Amino acid sequence: MGIDHRTRSLDEEGRRKAIHPVEVKGKWQSRRQPVQFILIFFFLAIPWISVGGRPLLRLNIFERKFSVFGVLFQSHDVPLLFLFVIGFALVFALATSLFGRVWCGWACPQTVFIEAVFRRIERWIEGSAFERKRNADLPLSERLPRLVLKWVAYLGVSLVITHSFLALFVGPEALRAMVLAGPIESPQAFTFILISTSVILFDFGWFREQFCIVMCPYGRIQSIFQDTNTFTVAYDARRGEPRGALRKLTKESPRGDCVDCTRCVQVCPTGIDIRNGSSQLECIACTGCVDACDDVMKRIGKPVGLIRYAPSNGSSRFHVGMRSYAYALALALVGVAVVAVGEKRTIAMVEVFKAPGDPYSVSEEAAGLVYGNVFVAEISGQRVGRNTVEFSLRGEPGDQLVMPNNPISAPEGVILRQPFTVRFAAGSLREGRREITLRTTVRAESSGPGNPGSEVKEKRLVLIGPF
Ligand code: SF4
Ligand code: SF4
Repeated sequence: MGIDHRTRSLDEEGRRKAIHPVEVKGKWQSRRQPVQFILIFFFLAIPWISVGGRPLLRLNIFERKFSVFGVLFQSHDVPLLFLFVIGFALVFALATSLFGRVWCGWACPQTVFIEAVFRRIERWIEGSAFERKRNADLPLSERLPRLVLKWVAYLGVSLVITHSFLALFVGPEALRAMVLAGPIESPQAFTFILISTSVILFDFGWFREQFCIVMCPYGRIQSIFQDTNTFTVAYDARRGEPRGALRKLTKESPRGDCVDCTRCVQVCPTGIDIRNGSSQLECIACTGCVDACDDVMKRIGKPVGLIRYAPSNGSSRFHVGMRSYAYALALALVGVAVVAVGEKRTIAMVEVFKAPGDPYSVSEEAAGLVYGNVFVAEISGQRVGRNTVEFSLRGEPGDQLVMPNNPISAPEGVILRQPFTVRFAAGSLREGRREITLRTTVRAESSGPGNPGSEVKEKRLVLIGPF
């Protein structure tokens, strides 16, 4: 009878069966574990890291301000953010075309936290996979103390993860204030923590591989990025088959190198048998079965590599396929577009509007009748450091700019509204109107590549008075 890989996670009637993957050590795991710990460290540390006085990563959705690698992006930077999203998707596509599901097995938060933290806690409290399987049939009263301890530990870890995640949006200072103020004072943050902690507990604590198998969209589409040069975890059937126990070796019935120990199945976190094929949807390329089989091969004196993480065309050499070149080219084009759009980012954005209220004012002065038009300048600083904006008029003699603060400071990320009045001689209008030029000179304290020292922009304003 053929092996039905569903039996590891589902029974014949489609009900979930718990998977208890056996712990595995080996070449790939000794590479994978440091990667996981570095990723966890960064995830927890990122909200606290600043670059040049600005957060390394902050996603302030409420104020539509995003800080990425210390650079502030606001709502008007949508084209740039859109390019970043495309670039991010292309990095995924390129990595997948080269190394298969390396994201799933090595970097996805789902895998990283489950393997490096939640399974570790499970092993510490409930014992090895064999003990857990054996104890699963014990009465609940006997298992309860360890179960409670395990879920309390899960809850603690989940709370750390969700608070760190929330800090990415609100910042660590605001997070600390919210925690100290309590849930009554910060009901939205409390609700977010409540929901996200519940989701993490459910997913990382119980749902686990089912998310990868039945819910993850990337898992469903990843195969479209791959070609025959892509690295995949594969069983060498030509070498391994016909499989059979060592003791069954006879001259009459020769067999392959697979001793059918099922060690590769026992270590698999998604419960599959890689010997059924290399392109199984459930395989997350964790390389656990590679290490498990290599260990078996060493013990029986056979060459390692019966299960390999290697190009799917069977080649032992790394070869970059056309698909990967295409993704790399597209990524380079997006990089060029990012630089081009980034170059156009200003030091400070200045918009000028006519102020609401009376269209003009009239005053009698020694020189004659003088009209006044009130405007509002909206200034939005874009650069780190001290930015200043200076206004001047280019019009007719007698035109006068009345502004309380000029030049005005424009700190990064702050939107200021500065009212000002343009005063002009009554006789300077033609048919009740005239155009003048408002010149804005924007200076940045720190200049450098993509950050010019000053910019001069001109805006046309329409002055109005009695017709
Ligand atoms: S671990 Fe290797 S030898 Fe054992 S069943 Fe799997 S493929 Fe065969
Ligand atoms: S088949 Fe191997 S590489 Fe794929 S998920 Fe299972 S153990 Fe990991």
